[in-house]
Amino acid sequence: MSECIFCRIVRGEIPCRKVYEDEDMLAFHDINPWAPVHVLIIPKQHIVSLATADASNQAVLGKILARTGDIARSQGLNDGFRTVINSGRIGNQEVYHLHLHILGGPEPLGGSLKPMTKK
Ligand code: 5GP
Ligand code: ZN
Repeated sequence: MSECIFCRIVRGEIPCRKVYEDEDMLAFHDINPWAPVHVLIIPKQHIVSLATADASNQAVLGKILARTGDIARSQGLNDGFRTVINSGRIGNQEVYHLHLHILGGPEPLGGSLKPMTKK
């Protein structure tokens, strides 16, 4: 059995505040939110990262993106949201089970990434 924390959430061994679930994917509130609304969507299958995903993961990754808007709206995000997928060391990925962050709230989010200044 995988010790991966998100696999344990999928198996119900660790509780979560569930937002959406079907046979392929699970969405739940982040335990340490970065924004007033912060939901994670994960594939139930253990995919390490977007950096290692390949064509065999195409169906579930497409499904996650196609469901993101509905899941965001179900949490009151009717006027937009931000999505983030951190990948690997450079991306500061902390949990190595692929997850998409949905971030939003009543006010526009700050701190958007800016183009790096050319040297
Ligand atoms: P990353 O930095 O890998 O993109 O994001 C990992 C996210 O998972 C973090 O925002 C962190 O708060 C969240 N997280 C880590 N452990 C748990 C947990 O046990 N339950 C929930 N709901 N979120 C978690
Ligand atoms: Zn996992």
